[in-house]
Amino acid sequence: MLVVMDKSATPEQIEQVVKVIEGRGCTARPIPGGDRVSIGVLNNEGPVDAALFIGLPGVKDAVPITKPYKLVSRETRTADTIIQVGEATIGKGYLTIIAGPCAIEGRDQAMTIARHVQKAGAQLFRGGAFKPRTSPYSFQGLGEAGLKILAGVRENTGLPVVTEVMDFQTFDMVEHYADVVQIGTRNMQNFSLLKRAGQSYRPILLKRGMAATIEEWLMAAEYIMAQGNHQVILCERGVRTFVHHSRNTLDLSAVPVVKKESHLPIMVDPSHAAGRRDQVLPLSRAAVAANAHGLMVEVHHQPDQALSDGAQSLYPEQFELLCRQVRAIFKVCGEDEPF
Ligand code: PEP
Ligand code: MN
Repeated sequence: MLVVMDKSATPEQIEQVVKVIEGRGCTARPIPGGDRVSIGVLNNEGPVDAALFIGLPGVKDAVPITKPYKLVSRETRTADTIIQVGEATIGKGYLTIIAGPCAIEGRDQAMTIARHVQKAGAQLFRGGAFKPRTSPYSFQGLGEAGLKILAGVRENTGLPVVTEVMDFQTFDMVEHYADVVQIGTRNMQNFSLLKRAGQSYRPILLKRGMAATIEEWLMAAEYIMAQGNHQVILCERGVRTFVHHSRNTLDLSAVPVVKKESHLPIMVDPSHAAGRRDQVLPLSRAAVAANAHGLMVEVHHQPDQALSDGAQSLYPEQFELLCRQVRAIFKVCGEDEPF
């Protein structure tokens, strides 16, 4: 149930609705919105009667929510969520590019790549300090030293930084250094981590689980929002299929589906979808034509020496071309997106 208040509703009238909701043993979650407040009714067992609210002073309407996800749903909030991170804006009307290496390997490597991607037009820098690797013998990331390097990149370039958190224990540390905290595909249904992310003061970039349906993915976002953090960015990164010509299969239909279902921004990571450099540019072009709100792309100045994901990392010149091309596509397809 969503209680929609009049534009002119007073704080006291809102408070009264909250009291009625809490009096039924439910949780009231006021939702920040354009020119009016709506209040979500959460944790209800079974349907809630609209008659409880209609007729209360300041209440415009009480509408049932038909989806399993509530705060994430467009039924709850029609206005698109726009997220501001430093100078970067993520959401409807913007094409935001996050770029950088798979992993932070050292200060020189990070700064060299950051300068390249900034010059090409990236608005945020990415790089893993805690890496979820398939093999325990592969490079696991520099840990806190990597986070400090990221903070140095931000200081030197002004670019906000995005980095992955792998577990509950290191959340405080990652949150301290990062501007956007990433939850990776392998942790999309790590519910205790999602709850902690919901208490974070940082925006969360939530990647789609490699075998997750869109509904499961949106429910994962709901976990974060239900704890009070409404700054969630969704990121499609490919799902596992039977093919061998790419590492995963980029599910571009996720973009229009998510935009229809949810007000949250949706970005696309063509690098982890492709797993190989030669597919990253065409997939990026397609994602922008499909009206994704942005891209997350892996770039390395020496991909053959990269400690992880070198095969899918673009050379700086390739990334420059990508930025030029997707900006041109955005001009044609993006600015007047009909959603
Ligand atoms: C990453 O972005 O570094 C990463 C590991 O991505 P994913 O979780 O999508 O595999
Ligand atoms: Mn990677």
